[in-house]
Formats: sequence, structure tokens, C-alpha cells
Amino acid sequence: MRYISTRGGMTPARFCDVLLGGLAADGGLVVPESFPTLSAGELAALQGATYEQVAQAVVSRFVDDIPEADLAALIAAAYDRRLFHHPAVVSLRQIEPGFHMAGLAHGPTLAFKDMALQLVGRLFEYELARRGEHLTVLGATSGDTGSSAEYAMIGARNVDVFMLSPLGRTSPFQAAQMYTLDEPNIHNLAVRGVFDECQDLVKEVTGDAAFKQTHRIGAVNSINWARIVAQAVYHVFVYLAVAPEVGAPVDIAVPTGNFGNVYAGFVARRMGVPIRHLIVATNENDVLDEFFRSGRYRVRPAADVIATSSPAMDISKASNFERYVHALLGDDSTATSALFSGLGPASAIDLSNDQGFARIAATGFVSGSSTHADRIATIRRLHADHGLVVDPHTADGVTVGLEHRDPDVPLVCLETAQPVKFAATIAEAVGTPPPVPARFADLFQRPQRYDVIDVDVAAVKAHIAATVPATRRP
Ligand SMILES: *Cc1c(COP(=O)(O)O)cnc(C)c1O
Repeated sequence: MRYISTRGGMTPARFCDVLLGGLAADGGLVVPESFPTLSAGELAALQGATYEQVAQAVVSRFVDDIPEADLAALIAAAYDRRLFHHPAVVSLRQIEPGFHMAGLAHGPTLAFKDMALQLVGRLFEYELARRGEHLTVLGATSGDTGSSAEYAMIGARNVDVFMLSPLGRTSPFQAAQMYTLDEPNIHNLAVRGVFDECQDLVKEVTGDAAFKQTHRIGAVNSINWARIVAQAVYHVFVYLAVAPEVGAPVDIAVPTGNFGNVYAGFVARRMGVPIRHLIVATNENDVLDEFFRSGRYRVRPAADVIATSSPAMDISKASNFERYVHALLGDDSTATSALFSGLGPASAIDLSNDQGFARIAATGFVSGSSTHADRIATIRRLHADHGLVVDPHTADGVTVGLEHRDPDVPLVCLETAQPVKFAATIAEAVGTPPPVPARFADLFQRPQRYDVIDVDVAAVKAHIAATVPATRRP
């Protein structure tokens, strides 16, 4: 199994090399040279399998440079039931005949991002130990990614994490999750600024090649290929759980921001899992819904991003989208490169001709968008009719999923977070704040630790240099 760039300018590399890298050197995204398959017989053999067994079957097809037994141990550690508080790791609940919810937020930070990052954290530690290297993970977060990444790296001996968050601008629960961690290798930097400034600081630090090299700076952002592989697992798992028999079609509705979660479903589909429709749900920031409806992908200026009540989906462009377009163009790197090099807010990708639409239809994608009023109504209805409280992002997925519902095909809506993370919107919808899981009952009483810094790249660099001891540097 070799990996290449969507733009064709990368020497084919193996899984563990792309695991620790970010963007391909030519600015493209890493994709497999060819997609492995799961035959109908292989899928049938996985019916009734545990989450770990499905993970082994899927992940091992993308990873041929870690021995199977080591991979099994990493998978077992990642989905340990002391981390994922559900006996099956992923819960499935039939809400109405043919309408299921998949619970993906039983992990340590109550967001679906744990499904991928817990495994990625184990893979990082394993590969760095094998190489005798240390990595400094630098990231910016407005919420879930930061806490998921931090919890995934707890205790990783050869990784230090520096997470920049906008001081006072993340939800209180998300801030408390990060800032109450007391781990020697986790460092929270609260920036006197907004999220975009945090992200710019990360870009500036990683843009300094010498500093990046000296401190071996890496990332665990949403374009990491290993995250996609880990996420493809639960698409296979939910398919097996709701398909009446292997081969029957299933529709999956996915709340979408950077297109990672739903692209992972596309990977499962490309492997041969009979997912009929992947239903892309956006909020008011509908770049992707617009594409699937019109064939035109129009990146918005950052200033046009609307702050919504499903904030993890407030995006101006979707960082994983290039992987999908590469597939849409028949895995043609030259054509992908022509479309994406220099793609900025003023430009657009136009596949609105008949051939483009036919290709989009063949990939199974359909879409819709949801507004604040829609998500409030959906949260209210699920609560009133089924006693179920979902978070605002999940509600976007349910809203759009039900719009595309076909009585003859099971529909699975993927949960993206537990409602407690977005308490204000829940209270607006149902009148009372969501229940707090027992393990977080005292979260706001725990001491918080973070360093406050200005929007100043020199301060970030100085902080990293002073914090990671020279002995840990390569
Ligand atoms: C990250 C996130 C999303 C968006 O997922 P993508 O993989 O970026 O499409 C949606 N909802 C929540 C709660 C998230 O944390």
C-alpha cells in the first residue's frame, strides 16, 4: 500500500510516513494509490463482530508497515472501555422504523473526534518510539479538535502538545475540558484573540522551516490520512449493524464541516460497502451543499463565515474536499492540481456540466443545509417524541437526513457530540440544560491551568522552546 498526493507531486510513501506528515509537499492531500476492497463475503464475515474486529479488518487494509499483532494492540488500547463508555464503543438506537442514530460520542471528550484521534494518538506514540523521535504537536482549536487531540496524547512519552485557543471564546465546557488537564506533555495556550488569529499563529510558526525542524513540529489536523482511515471503520460498523443483510443499501447522514467525517464514509463506500447515499448536512455555511446542488464549489472569504449554533461546521472551505474531487475526476492528479492550485475566495471549481453531475451522482452524495430554526425544531421534536436530546450538529444531520429519507432504505444519522458540550442551544430548544455525564460532574470545580499569551508569534515560539526540554528534541 503506497500513498500519493492528489496533485501528483509526491514520491509514493508508506502509511507510517504519511501518518507523521501533514500536507503533501506539493500542497495536495495524501490518498492511497489504489483503494483496498472488502468483498461481500468479507463483509458478511464481519457481521456481529466487535468494534475492534471491524477496526482491524478495515485499518489493516491501509497499513502494511505495522505488524498485525501490534496494530491489534494499538486498536485495543484506543477503544478501551475505560475511555469509551459504551459496551459496543458505538451505540445504535432505532428511533423510528428505518431511522437509526449512531452514538459516536461515548469517548473521553464526548465528541466523535475521539473515534479517530484515540487511535491516531496510539499510532503516533508507536511510530515515534520505533524511530526514536520526539514530536511537538502544535494546533489551534475553537472547540472539539483541541480537547480530542489533547486527550488522545495523554501519557504519550514522545509527544508534547501545544494547543492555542481563543481566550474566553470557546464554550465553557470545552475550555474546562482542556484547561483542567494536568499532564506534563499537554500545554494550553489561551490567546488574547480570536480563533483565526490562533490559526494564523500556527501557520506562522510552521512556516518557519528552521524552527519547525529544530523542534520537530507536527499537526493532527483534519487532513491527517490516519484520521480518515480510523473514521471509515464506524461507517462499516454502522452499515453492518443496520443493513438487513449484507448487500442491502443503507443511507448515512453526516453533519459536515471540513468534509472529514463524510469523506470517511465515501472511503468505506469505495471499499465496496453498499452505502447508497451519503447525505451531506451543512449549516448556514453551505459551501458544500451549494456544490452538491449546483456543481460549483465556491470558497468563501473568511469574513463571510457566519457564526452559528453548530460552530464546528462554520467553515469557508472544506479541507478534505480535494480528496473527493480527485476521486470524482477519476483519480486524475493533473486535473485535480489544475483545479486546486491557487484556489482562493475569488475562484471556483465548476463541475456543473452534465458529465460532472453524472459523476457526482455516481459517488452517492446528496446534500442539504439546516438553519438555527431547523436545528432547534429537530432537537425539540426528538426530545418530545422520543425523549432523546441531540447536540446542534447532530440535529443538522437529522434535519437533512430526514429530508432525504426513503421508506425502503434504512437511514443512519451520525451523532457528532454529546449535547452537554453545547448547553446553551439545548436549553433554548427544550427549556432545560442537558444532563452532565457523571464523569464530568465536577469539571467546573477542578483547577484550570493555561498560559495566556498575546497574538505574537515570537511569544509562541519562546513558549515552545522554553517548555520542551532540549533532551526531548531530536
Ligand atoms: C468536527 C466536528 C464536525 C465537523 O466534522 P468534519 O469532519 O469537519 O466534517 C461536526 N460536529 C462536531 C461536533 C464536530 O466536532
